[in-house]
Amino acid sequence: MTSELQKQAKDRGIKYFLISFTDLFGTQRSKLVPAEAIDAMAKSGAGFAGFATWLDMTPADSDMFVIPDTSSLIQLPWKKDVGWFAGNPWMDGKEVEHAPRNVLRRAIAAAAAQGLELKTGVECEFFLVAPGGDSISDPGDLQAKPCYDQSTLMRRYDVISEICDSMLELGWKPYQNDHEDANGQFEMNWEYDTSLVTADRHSFFKYMVKSIAEKHGLRATFMPKPFPHLTGNGCHAHVSLWKDGKNVFADPKGELGVSKLGYQFLGGLLAHAEALTAISNPTVNSYKRINAPVTLSGATWSPNTATYTGNNRTHMIRIPEEGRFELRLADGSTNPYLLQAAILVAGLDGIKNASDPGKRLDVNMYTHGHLIEGVKKLPLNLLDALRAFERSALYKHAFGAEFVTAYVKLKMENWNEYMRYLTKWEVETTLDC
Ligand SMILES: [Mg+2]
Repeated sequence: MTSELQKQAKDRGIKYFLISFTDLFGTQRSKLVPAEAIDAMAKSGAGFAGFATWLDMTPADSDMFVIPDTSSLIQLPWKKDVGWFAGNPWMDGKEVEHAPRNVLRRAIAAAAAQGLELKTGVECEFFLVAPGGDSISDPGDLQAKPCYDQSTLMRRYDVISEICDSMLELGWKPYQNDHEDANGQFEMNWEYDTSLVTADRHSFFKYMVKSIAEKHGLRATFMPKPFPHLTGNGCHAHVSLWKDGKNVFADPKGELGVSKLGYQFLGGLLAHAEALTAISNPTVNSYKRINAPVTLSGATWSPNTATYTGNNRTHMIRIPEEGRFELRLADGSTNPYLLQAAILVAGLDGIKNASDPGKRLDVNMYTHGHLIEGVKKLPLNLLDALRAFERSALYKHAFGAEFVTAYVKLKMENWNEYMRYLTKWEVETTLDC
């Protein structure tokens, strides 16, 4: 008998399936499975040696099996004979606790037990660079204020339109594309959805952008700060919480149209900002984007304090309009699944504790931030963020001790590796000490 998946493969011309999962560092790992073999894999999972990826496992561990979530199927628009699945890792008969998609699914289930559902949209900025990665790809993209520039956008029309056409075809409802604030930088927006759908799409979007850029002889990077003098790659998240089909952040009578519950959720994000940063800004390079000096365009567009405001882009959280807010903290290196989980967990904790975010700050933090007393600063580097994350009772409880141990261990190895590098700056400033 032909199974539903075999039938879909036949009808859509899919010859192979990618059964993928995302490890702790956000890397997508896959097995490419012929359609003829998909039924057994859909049931028992595709096998992987977990140690060979960025998960905290040993070479002696059992096989890890990734069971595809068949509702996540995406037919690659640029390679139609391949279908992609997001999968959930299992080992020894149970879900791998520290696998990112499992962490998010557990957080979603905990919210669902309270009748709540997180919906988000993400803005994944990226650069189109030369294949070597050391310069932007368009030598004519030189303006000091290149944001929204029409000519530089249209010089990359072939790539941008192919990505946008792909999103249209996939039903993601993309609605705008632009040249961003840094030379060589772009942003493409599609409609928000539930957190798991957004996380799967975010993860796939990065793969799609890189693949289509490669097709055009270019390279796409989501690195937080690939060029020190230019604005970095943010990954702003627009956040709302829903109950019984209603957005519970919306309240026309609330301050800026946001409900009391919305402010409590926001208060939770501010209260857990330092630990959250270990997830939203998870690389050594992340801290060269937040806390950065002024860039060529005149602003970094990234926060350096755990503060919120109205429609003002210089804070960690902005309320652009009623019923939602924008978390401006995360960058292009964040793990799509962990970002959503970290937001949900901190926000729900804010609601549980009726967290008060205090009064919003209607000031330009880039010019007047230093004049405000008692403002909580964001971590200055990955080490500080990891220490805050390790201390966080909330994340230990919600993500699980196994996750915290695994994540901190692997990220700390990153930090230690980085610290072994002797920089030119150190030599120049210390040689004659
Ligand atoms: Mg942007």
